[in-house]
Amino acid sequence: MTKTDYPQLDVIAVGAHPDDVEIACGGTLAKLAKQGYKIGIIDLTDGEPTPGSRGPEQRKAEAKAAADAIGAQVRVILDLPNRRLFDSFEARVLLAKEFRKYRPKIVIGFGDKTPMASPDHWQAMLITDAAVFYSRLTKWEQHFDNLPVHNISAQLYFRLAFEPQSLGGFLSHFTVDITETLEAKIAAVRCYASQFPATKEHVFDRIRGAALIAGSASGFHAGETFVSTRSLGVKDLVKAVLPSCGNSLAGASGGC
Ligand SMILES: [Zn+2]
Repeated sequence: MTKTDYPQLDVIAVGAHPDDVEIACGGTLAKLAKQGYKIGIIDLTDGEPTPGSRGPEQRKAEAKAAADAIGAQVRVILDLPNRRLFDSFEARVLLAKEFRKYRPKIVIGFGDKTPMASPDHWQAMLITDAAVFYSRLTKWEQHFDNLPVHNISAQLYFRLAFEPQSLGGFLSHFTVDITETLEAKIAAVRCYASQFPATKEHVFDRIRGAALIAGSASGFHAGETFVSTRSLGVKDLVKAVLPSCGNSLAGASGGC
């Protein structure tokens, strides 16, 4: 196996269309970037056509600006078809090749259907689940341009919908404090002028409101909630359940 020439990323977030990832977890990605982690975004389609867009070039330019607003190092827009995205062997391999190139530790993606919105989102979840698995399969190099296998350590689900409700049926929900990066998230979504013109200004109120509700439930000003596909482990119970209290021991913690 030869070493890949692509930069290794800590986290890759996968969406069906450019703007999915920003709406779902833009605050968390911006925070991770500020913390020094290397972030990538993969859109399975270019999201076009849509009613208010001049076409794929505008959408791609918006996606690049949004990635810059978040601080993502890599953004890849794959050539799968918008509105008729389907889980298939070819789609799974296409995404798994990106995982093998960029070797993320964590992959974040869709975790549920989005009724009344695009069915591509559910297909994106199926494709992402499979690609995480395909990334580590040996004796199959011919399907992956001979890219070496890569084991992804953790997979998380996000929820695209603007409501902060949790995903049913999963054990390990957790909320990331995005107080410092809520505005970066909003700015990233605003890059998509073709999707969110002035007539859709209410969308930003919904995004902000959802972040405030999600955060306040966990003791933060603003947050984004995720599901871990495996049970979350804890090394320090106090830090894990009281993240706002810092590292102080009893007596020096100011009443935490
Ligand atoms: Zn979408």
